[in-house]
Amino acid sequence: MKYEIATLRGDGIGPEIVDEGVKVLRAAAAAVPGLDLEFNQLAGGANHYAEHGELAPESTWKTMESAHAILLGSMGHPDIRMPDGTEAQGHFIVNARKKLGLYAGVRPIKLYPGARGVDPEQTQVDLVLVRESTEGLFASFGGGAEIPGEVYADTMIVTRKGTERVARHAFDLARTRPGRPLDGERRVTCVDKANIFRSLAFFREVYDGVAAEYPDITADHALVDSFAMLLVQHPERYDVLVTENMFGDILSDLAAALVGGLGLAPSGDIGDDHAMFQPAHGSAPDIAGRDLANPVATIVSGRMMLDWLARRHRDDSLHAAADLVERAVVRTMESGALTADLGGDLSCSRFGDEVAATVRRLAAAAG
Ligand code: NAD
Ligand code: MN
Repeated sequence: MKYEIATLRGDGIGPEIVDEGVKVLRAAAAAVPGLDLEFNQLAGGANHYAEHGELAPESTWKTMESAHAILLGSMGHPDIRMPDGTEAQGHFIVNARKKLGLYAGVRPIKLYPGARGVDPEQTQVDLVLVRESTEGLFASFGGGAEIPGEVYADTMIVTRKGTERVARHAFDLARTRPGRPLDGERRVTCVDKANIFRSLAFFREVYDGVAAEYPDITADHALVDSFAMLLVQHPERYDVLVTENMFGDILSDLAAALVGGLGLAPSGDIGDDHAMFQPAHGSAPDIAGRDLANPVATIVSGRMMLDWLARRHRDDSLHAAADLVERAVVRTMESGALTADLGGDLSCSRFGDEVAATVRRLAAAAG
């Protein structure tokens, strides 16, 4: 079957990493009979805003809605701002999540061969952070109360519906996983600040209600401040985390340090009808345009997209392609082929070439 992928290359390193992601996904699709991926490249992002005064043409939004899935590079530049002083990129991404109902920000944190976290001895890291992505502290984004030059307010909004759906997503995900590295126990940890904020006490209360529907999975809680320490000291205790929008934004970048950095942090923004896949990191203006970025986060985000499409369309050819991509990334990194952020000497594009070649080799070997 043919799948249309709405593709936004974005800004900064975005175009470089998306090109490698597409290269690898094309190689995987070519290796699987009957699978056709069509990458429809769309305009939009911070540079587009700087040139045209709009974040994206209307046709981009329409195609994002009608396509089977969305693949996005990182967006943004610190100097490209809206009249209210905030960065243009946020308006694209936050609005995309709201418009398309992408409430579950799924961010796997996993060690790949050749990568080491801040504690090189710690090899037991395999968790997924699920970030609520449509409300929380981002709910009033673009609005909020303001007395110009004096007072600004961004309000934390937590709803029953928003919390139930993200908590369900986390528990359903836990059922598909091998459990926490420590002892294989399946566990969902609600990370909140229920001791102080009414909104987050409610988040925990709604979470507990959902947890009761999943007696096969251990449900626990943690307060976000001390949890930040525990996550660094004992990542092996955690399996699936579920958290408010802003906490999830911060903790997912922190967690990336456990597995070698942001170049290894993929993500999927998933809703009931749409999904958008992008690395968890930003546009890295400090290394943009130099073919230096690590495309693994984007390539693995593409693999997550194939898995999501496979489940949604009950199409095993997509599972086969996803499996090829994942094995090719592991095999390539095992061989010592690494980008500069991991101490290697491969450029972004050479690394992408290696992974694509490995996809073809693995497919040929499988006959
Ligand atoms: P960043 O994630 O872009 O970069 C942080 C650090 O990590 C930088 O040193 C960068 O070089 C490094 N890094 C990130 N991705 C890498 C990769 N693939 N390979 C190697 N190194 C990598 O965060 P920032 O510097 O805080 O923000 C830069 C811009 O990105 C800002 O304009 C911000 O608004 C935007 N941003 C966009 C998104 C998005 O598109 N969803 C998310 C976060 C930030
Ligand atoms: Mn972020």
